[in-house]
Parts: sequence; structure tokens; C-alpha cells
Amino acid sequence: MHIKVSYMPIYLKCQRMFRLLVVGHEYEMNVGLLLHLAQKEWGLRYPRALKEFDGSQTSELEKLLLETLGGVKHDISHIHPVFRDVEKEDFEQVFQTLEKRIPEISCNLALIDARSIFPVQTDVFLSSKEISGVVDKIVIIDGSYAPSLIKTHPPPSVGVWKADRLQATAYAMLLEDEMDIRIEKAQIEYVSSGIVRDFPVKTADRRNVIKCLEDMKATLEQERDNRNEKMCGSCYLRRICKWDDD
Ligand code: SF4
Repeated sequence: MHIKVSYMPIYLKCQRMFRLLVVGHEYEMNVGLLLHLAQKEWGLRYPRALKEFDGSQTSELEKLLLETLGGVKHDISHIHPVFRDVEKEDFEQVFQTLEKRIPEISCNLALIDARSIFPVQTDVFLSSKEISGVVDKIVIIDGSYAPSLIKTHPPPSVGVWKADRLQATAYAMLLEDEMDIRIEKAQIEYVSSGIVRDFPVKTADRRNVIKCLEDMKATLEQERDNRNEKMCGSCYLRRICKWDDD
């Protein structure tokens, strides 16, 4: 059985959600998901804005970010055709919401070492016998290759979320196999606020990745799962989940 690394954070959130998505239930499109797609696309273009930025005034970076957002607005329907079917009002709402984030994003991006988010490669497919995935970027940190993931949810007050850390560690492990090198660090780009955090790839997390993948396989093979009922109220799969029928 082959497991996609991108399912790992979903599994850690709710095992039932993971099982529903693996067996082929689609996301129901809503403004929140459109926002996620557009924000991710924009986040991938932050390096373009930072390349032009001379490091002096954040108002200059704000202008550059606004330009890149305009580019995303222009291109998004070609990249994600789902945007072709979106009501004009919803389309505008997505981009107005993103525009309001510019002051916070530019303040935080102005503080980072811009080179840390310049990709050596983007959308890199990595695969081993049992797992595979597409890592958003490979970047250089402290002179060495590192996987970097774009996340559209807010960051924790310090460090990175456990699910993000494990997913990035899984990509680091795949990258080590692919390139036959040791990966020391990984990185998460929290693009909705412009915060970028790297962290060491630790032995305990490598162990947890292997355990998590084993548990994911067992969940699918045994067709059993636990539900995270704390999340049900806001879950977009609630209508098809039928958890209250169990
Ligand atoms: S409705 Fe609840 S149990 Fe079902 S997938 Fe969503 S979060 Fe999980």
C-alpha cells in the first residue's frame, strides 16, 4: 500500500477525514478552500517580490506584494480551473481578504533572510517503495539542501505545529533517499502571515514519521478509524461523514 505524505497532517487531525479523502471523497469547494489555493499560489511568488526589494522601506515591499497578488489574480483560473466556476462576488472576496494581509506579511517578510525562501527547485516529486509526495520547495539553509513547505494556516506562537514538523520530516527522509545526502534542517513558510521558521530534523520525529505511516496503513487496511469530534462542527465533510450512524 502506497501512502501520500500530504495525508499525514490530515490523519493527525482526524482519522475518519483521512479515510474519507483516501477513498475518493472530494473536498466541497467553498470560499475558505479558494482562499487556501490562492494564498498558496501567492506564497510561492513571495520570492519574486523579495528579489526586487532593496531592504529599505516595508511600504516598498507592500507595493511589490500587491503586484504579485495582481499576478496571482490574473493567473489563478489557469492554474486552478475551479476558479472559472466561482461567482464573481466570491472571487473578489478571496482577493480582498488576501490584500488586507499585506501589511502583516510585509512586516514579517522584511525580517527574514530572503535567500531562505528562494527555491532551488519547486514541486519536487519524491517517492520510495511505500510513500510518495510532492514537496513545495527545496531551499538552501546553512549551505545545505532542505525541504520547505508552504502552509496557509496561522503559525503557533513559537516553532511549528507538530503535524507540519512531521510532514516536513517525512519529506526530508525521502529527499535523503533521493539525493543520497543527509538533511539536517527543514522549514515551514506560514504564508498567510509571512512568518518563516526552520528547525532541525530530529531522530524522535523520524521515528514518529515511521510510526505514523504504519498507523495510517493499518487504518486503511483494517477500515477502522477514530473520529475527532471536536472538529466536526466546522468540518466540510460532515454531511458525508455519517459518524453519528456508527
Ligand atoms: S465530521 Fe468530524 S469525524 Fe467526520 S471527518 Fe469531519 S472532523 Fe472527522
